Amino acid sequence: MKHRILVTGGSGFLGSKLCENLVQEGHDVVCLDNLFTSQKDNITPLLGAGNFEFIRHDVTQPIWLEVDQIYNLACPAAPGHYQFNPVKTMKTSVLGAINMLGLAKRCRARILQASTSEVYGDPDVHPQPESYRGSVNTLGPRACYDEGKRAAETLFMDYHRMHGVDVRIIRIFNTYGPQMHPFDGRVVSNFIMQALHKDELTMFGDGSQTRSFCYRDDLIDGMMKLMNQDQVVGPVNIGNPTEFTIMELAELVLELSEVKCKISHKPLPADDPLQRRPDITLAKSALNWEPKVHLRDGLLKTIEWFKSIDQTKYRAPTPNY
Ligand code: NAD
Ligand code: UDP
Repeated sequence: MKHRILVTGGSGFLGSKLCENLVQEGHDVVCLDNLFTSQKDNITPLLGAGNFEFIRHDVTQPIWLEVDQIYNLACPAAPGHYQFNPVKTMKTSVLGAINMLGLAKRCRARILQASTSEVYGDPDVHPQPESYRGSVNTLGPRACYDEGKRAAETLFMDYHRMHGVDVRIIRIFNTYGPQMHPFDGRVVSNFIMQALHKDELTMFGDGSQTRSFCYRDDLIDGMMKLMNQDQVVGPVNIGNPTEFTIMELAELVLELSEVKCKISHKPLPADDPLQRRPDITLAKSALNWEPKVHLRDGLLKTIEWFKSIDQTKYRAPTPNY
């Protein structure tokens, strides 16, 4: 069945791939974005499609549309981006959720929230199942994002219980791939950019902290599966359960880029989680989903993409008060 689908944050790293898939499936797609951390280039190839339109709009402001499904992805996601204006980050998560849930309620649309592994904070349960309630510092520099996303989950469940809104919640773990912003400061984009420029790789701390990296296409597949089934509301973890230290990631990026660069150690940022790995038992059983792309293969595709872009077209986030 063809739907009218709204994707907030639709010109971002994940949103642009989601829009591409939805357009290919023939849905009527509305991409809404304020272009805070992305550029139109990500969606330029879609602009000619008859079933795609772009609206420059901020989710902190209400909007009146007629849609059947909403993917709510609008929110800066990289630490450097969401800490750039932490008050705005919180407004985007909370007011954005309220506005999009209100829209879903009026339209009787199904709405999916892009939540995050950051709701688990610096976890003392490992790997993290959905039942783990997390260990978040409410006062630290990551709290604007972590607590904003936690509040958004609360709003989703309250609209679901109180108003019967048809919600889905996905908890996304570290995802990488083509269309990442080259200057977003995330570890995969930083290491690849540094390797391509033959700069030193910036290692925060001793590199023993871990993350589990999911390729973009696997992630979007899981997100769409969660949206298009009737059994599970969520939250559902979607991520790759293979865990790497950040030092192992650095060594792999250098090997695949075929360069030799020094690694320079910088202080570990405040509240940086020491370990992260999703328990994806629920995604496997409820969605019949698991990731297919190995880190080595995904990194090769990502490195090729970074080589192909014109970096002068990308800018750091604009002040957004
Ligand atoms: P991204 O920064 O590339 O995309 C976010 C998009 O939202 C951007 O296009 C940005 O311009 C837009 N945006 C930001 N504030 C907005 C506002 N107030 N109104 C309208 N648009 C706004 O990041 P991404 O990696 O594509 O992340 C997409 C979603 O997935 C985010 O909600 C993020 O929290 C979540 N997520 C991503 C990851 C990951 O590893 N990529 C992990 C966990 C959660
Ligand atoms: N990191 C690093 N060097 C960088 C960027 C990040 O060592 O140039 C580390 C960071 O401290 C964290 C991990 O890599 O431990 C993942 O960071 P990222 O910002 O990609 O995402 P996070 O999972 O922390 O939100």
